[in-house]
Amino acid sequence: MIAETKYGKAVAFLRSGFFAFGLLLSAVWEGPVAAQDNEEAALSREEIVQLVVLANLEFTLLHEIGHALIDHFELPVFGREEDAADQIATTTMILRNNADVDAYAIDRLLAVSGQWLSEWKEERRVLGSAHAFWDSHSLSIQRFYNINCLLYGANPDELSFLLDSEGLPAERGFLCEDAYKLAYRSNLWLLENYGRAATDIVPFHGLTVEFQPTRDPRHEKVRGWIVSSGLVRDIAARATEFFPWRREVPVRFVNCPGSAEAFYNRNVAEITVCYELLELFLTSVEKDFAAELAVVCGNAGLRRLFAARLSCLPE
Ligand SMILES: [Zn+2]
Repeated sequence: MIAETKYGKAVAFLRSGFFAFGLLLSAVWEGPVAAQDNEEAALSREEIVQLVVLANLEFTLLHEIGHALIDHFELPVFGREEDAADQIATTTMILRNNADVDAYAIDRLLAVSGQWLSEWKEERRVLGSAHAFWDSHSLSIQRFYNINCLLYGANPDELSFLLDSEGLPAERGFLCEDAYKLAYRSNLWLLENYGRAATDIVPFHGLTVEFQPTRDPRHEKVRGWIVSSGLVRDIAARATEFFPWRREVPVRFVNCPGSAEAFYNRNVAEITVCYELLELFLTSVEKDFAAELAVVCGNAGLRRLFAARLSCLPE
């Protein structure tokens, strides 16, 4: 009755008003980065690259699980589903460790919002922004600000360096504590109304994880990080424990030549993550490392992650 015990714990957290949802869906991820002390300088370049790639995978997977929850349990959504999935992912990552957001949780969220900023810059450079306006997702640059806003709203003291910066203009920042309260309340509502009941243990369907063989050394490298970190396995296990899925929801890591994406397919209730998307995250963070010092040091999120490695001048 392990599941029953764990669920009991989660309910206790929920009733105490603390971080239930973060415990619920997110991984107990103690990868190589978390094993270090809090000195940024202690992180090697490889560890930072790994942190950024896995953080973006974590966000991606939680976003797709958000779609799966909305579909599977026919959740009401007021607004765009893509924004709701982003909010579920962001709030869950914020709460992953505890209500008092720890340094590594912050680093991971900044790594995710930094990726959206990079994508926005790339979109403008390569395509112009025509497609972005009719897409079902918010603009990459809005996703960057939305994540920073919830992160700041969850912990304004720790994140004060973000307010009134390129990452979060003050006019938006003043609304973020309320925005986070609403996101938190919504996640608790989801757990209270749709979480697995203690009596609802069997049948026990949930998320399963499959890795298609990779065809590229860079894909294999990231796949190795995923497996050794336990990140995906743990997220899948928690999503399984805490929601009474009526059927299996496979999470498949697959080769998608020419297509860097992840998606939830509601026709077959499956989550697909392309290795090519993970490679995009990898290439992006490698490019950040190669970027001009002033660019990296001038970006609040990147600065936090890379400053010690790159010897940014004091602000
Ligand atoms: Zn989506």
